[in-house]
This record gives sequence, structure tokens and C-alpha cells, in this order.
Amino acid sequence: MTDKAKQAASSKGLLQSEDLYRYILETSVYPREPEPLNKIRDVTADHPWAMMGTAPDAGQLMAMLLRLVNAKKTIEIGVFTGYSLLLTALTIPEDGQITAIDVNRETYEIGLPIIKKAGVDHKINFIESEALSVLDQLLKDSENEGSFDYAFVDADKDNYCNYHERLMKLLKVGGIAVYDNTLWGGTVAVPEEQVPDHFRGSSRQAILDLNRSLADDPRVQLSHVALGDGITICRRIF
Ligand code: SAH
Ligand code: CA
Repeated sequence: MTDKAKQAASSKGLLQSEDLYRYILETSVYPREPEPLNKIRDVTADHPWAMMGTAPDAGQLMAMLLRLVNAKKTIEIGVFTGYSLLLTALTIPEDGQITAIDVNRETYEIGLPIIKKAGVDHKINFIESEALSVLDQLLKDSENEGSFDYAFVDADKDNYCNYHERLMKLLKVGGIAVYDNTLWGGTVAVPEEQVPDHFRGSSRQAILDLNRSLADDPRVQLSHVALGDGITICRRIF
């Protein structure tokens, strides 16, 4: 690498310490986190898959994006106990709608009492199913084409590219798709043979493929953000 390339590739200081991450959470994120979201984190904390919940700092950016596009009609693929779902439901207007899809209703039901208590469950249409067939079903009704303002994708990584193709039809021009876990624990930048076992496999490969294909996709404006486990924001431009 040339000196110039090295300088451009060096971090501006972020992501280099746990203390800095804690500083961001304690200064800017936790004090602003709506009480019900804090409760979802609480009831999820003991779950063996708790680490799957959306990072609260990434959530804060998602709420910003939802407001910036005035999102009303949204879709979520991968609900788990409902952190990102409740965040979306709290952020969109009273007559907003979320199509929320997950293969597992049981984990959704862990967060559901909190969602109901927050008074936003009427905005949610939960569908217990694998997501791809639901997206294809939505596309059969031409009214859904180009009608969604926002999509959050946080389920099986192997299908991210398939979801993206459907979402490019379902989203409005100007609508946004957010993909989670696109830095895969940082292992996207680690040579295959040095990747720890639990990060290896088809999911990591799918993320690598997604990152490459999004970078090549002229239909979207792109921003790859090092928040949480990496989130990629795509804005449909045509
Ligand atoms: N967004 C959630 C975390 C989602 S974790 C939060 O903020 O907490 C990933 C979820 O994707 C799991 O709940 C899993 O059941 C679901 N999932 C996995 N494969 C799926 C598929 N093919 N279709 C729909 N959901 C799927
Ligand atoms: Ca995730």
C-alpha cells in the first residue's frame, strides 16, 4: 500500500476500544432509549441467542432513517424478540404499518407484551413464515410494487441477495433497505483460514457476496456503516 492509501485506510479512532463504544452508549444512546426498548433488552438478556438483538446504537440510526424518509409502510425480515420491530413501531406514525416476518413466533411472543403495553401493536402484521415466499406473495399484488418506504433485513444471511432483488421491486424510489450483520463480527476482513470456526460457513460467504453485489448495484445509493455488527443502508434510486 502507498502511504496515501494507508492513511486513507486507517481508522479515525472509532472501533478501537470497548471504552469508546461504552462512551457512545452511555452518552448518546441509553439516555434517549425509549423505556419499552430498554425493557425488550431486559427480557431478552437471559435468552441463549440474546446477542442476536439489534444493537441499540444501530437502532438509534434506524430510527433516524425512518424519520428522514417519513416511513409509513415498512417491512421487517427477522423479528426475534422484537427490538427493531418495536423501535420501528414507536417511530412510524399512528397509521403506519409493519409487515413483520419470522419463522419463529415463540421469540416474538417474548417481546409482545411489552409491544402491546407500549400501545403500538395495531401497527404490526406479524407473519410466521420463512420470508422469501412472503415477499413473492406480496409481489403478486401489483399494489405492493413500489409501495414500501423502508425495509429492515436481519434474518438468514444466505437469502440476503434474494431478499434484495424482491425489495428493489417492493420499495419506492427513495425508499430504504437496511441490512444487518454486514461486517460479520469483523471477519469479512480476515483471511478465510484465520476466521474462527463459529464465524465460518455459508453465512459469512453470503455476506461477502452481498457486500460485493451491493457495491456493484446501480439501483442503490449505498452506505456501509460500522455500527453494531455492521449495517448497510441502501436507498433505491430508480
Ligand atoms: N431484528 C431482531 C433480530 C433478528 S435475529 C432484533 O432486533 O432483535 C434473526 C431472526 O431471523 C430470528 O428470529 C430467526 O428466527 C429469523 N429467521 C431466520 N431465518 C428466517 C427466514 N428464512 N425467514 C424469516 N425469518 C427467519
Ligand atoms: Ca442482527
